[in-house]
Amino acid sequence: MCDERELFVNETPWDKLKEECGVVGVYAPEKRDIARSVYFGLHALQHRGQESAGIASNKNGKIQYYKEMGLVQEVFNDEIIERLQGDIAIGHVRYSTTGESYVVNAMPLVVYHKGGSLALAHNGNLVNAKEIRDELQDNGVIFQTSIDSEVIASLIAKYSREKTIEEAIVETTKMIRGAYALVITYGDKLIGVRDPNGIRPLCIGKLENGYVLSSESCAFSVMGAEFVRDVEAGEMVIIEDNQIKSIQYGGKVQKAACTFEYVYFSRPDSVVDGKNVYLARRNAGIILAREYPVEADMVIAVPDSGTVAAVGYAQESGIPFGEGLIKNRYVGRTFIQPDQRMRELSVKLKLNVLRENIKGKRIVMIDDSIVRGTTSGKIVKMLKEAGAKEVHIRVSSPPVMHSCYFGIDTPSRRHLVAANHSVEEISKMIGADSLGYLSVEGLIEAIGLPADQLCTACFNGVYPMDVSRTGNKYVFEKE
Ligand code: AMP
Repeated sequence: MCDERELFVNETPWDKLKEECGVVGVYAPEKRDIARSVYFGLHALQHRGQESAGIASNKNGKIQYYKEMGLVQEVFNDEIIERLQGDIAIGHVRYSTTGESYVVNAMPLVVYHKGGSLALAHNGNLVNAKEIRDELQDNGVIFQTSIDSEVIASLIAKYSREKTIEEAIVETTKMIRGAYALVITYGDKLIGVRDPNGIRPLCIGKLENGYVLSSESCAFSVMGAEFVRDVEAGEMVIIEDNQIKSIQYGGKVQKAACTFEYVYFSRPDSVVDGKNVYLARRNAGIILAREYPVEADMVIAVPDSGTVAAVGYAQESGIPFGEGLIKNRYVGRTFIQPDQRMRELSVKLKLNVLRENIKGKRIVMIDDSIVRGTTSGKIVKMLKEAGAKEVHIRVSSPPVMHSCYFGIDTPSRRHLVAANHSVEEISKMIGADSLGYLSVEGLIEAIGLPADQLCTACFNGVYPMDVSRTGNKYVFEKE
């Protein structure tokens, strides 16, 4: 069913690929048009990946799928959705951070093995996939894609020759290390798995006659589902016979949910691990105003990523919130263009200054994060050229100083401006009149989860697992 009309050169250096993704799964045997539910869910998760989209449907163990490069609405049409019939379906949106992107690397991955067909969608990154892949290849296993998710699929296929699917997944989790939120369909089951640290999110929703799994709860309302709960760290949920079974496979491992989900990645209307993302961002703005007050005439946001924190900053500081930048909603994320030249141009494509509103004013500009420093520098220049008297930047997260190996696109330390420069230097480089970042403690307080349950590695280098001896070339290259 997968209609791949392009020619592919399958030589992507697999260890250069990093994923930011969204996953969704629906179990609803009595529902017609199940793929359309997944399609709606993927729409709600589009912010998690804009490069490719795919849906796999499962009818009595027979899996059909379609995946293609592009946004959800570009990839699917009525005809394709109609053809994806089944009782269970899973979907995936993906954004890889290199220029080398091929539809073969899109998900869901569908593999055929002795026990039958299995479809898998993965959000996150493994830190030991290369090791495992090398070993499997030494034993004659062949790989069709360059993504680490195929290592997971391959291991499950290997173990399921002699074990049940649940046992095969548990065996697989003993081998893999890193971040994974998985949605799998096999036989008459929909299965969700969250890694032992719970780095990437995954939650469960209830339909009238069925269940939904999703990276984020923001997908539930459009899918007609009620939020039930998060999948726990180290938990596998198996949905079959319209019931949920749970296996806690992960043992005693410290939870380390990704802080950046609250800072940037998740949608504000999602609840991740019991905490609403909007409230976390607004609190971050409030605490930022306490930590870095400044005299100014107006608080503005970098839309949309800084908007909620700017509301909090304005509320706490008493400085009125106003519009200073207008966003073109039809241009994708800044990061969507993987090379630096396009990234620079895309700031102008995406944002324009509302000259009449900022002229002659002292501005506090709020953004959620500074990664490479490209975006803020460009915006400060645009604001000053439009007549802003002063531009003070306040960032509602701490300086990003370390690479993420778990699925967030924080690039090599070489490219992280805060890994190589002091706050004063960055302020000068981006032409701001002052610069203040939220503290790590402030961010944790804003989220409201215990510090020891959050991964703050990109800010302080404290990784929830060993990332130095992975045998993964990419890890060494990055640091
Ligand atoms: P930079 O120009 O690299 O400093 O980019 C910072 C901007 O990119 C901020 O406005 C963020 O909202 C946004 N951003 C931060 N992290 C990511 C990410 N992982 N993927 C896409 N955009 C991001």
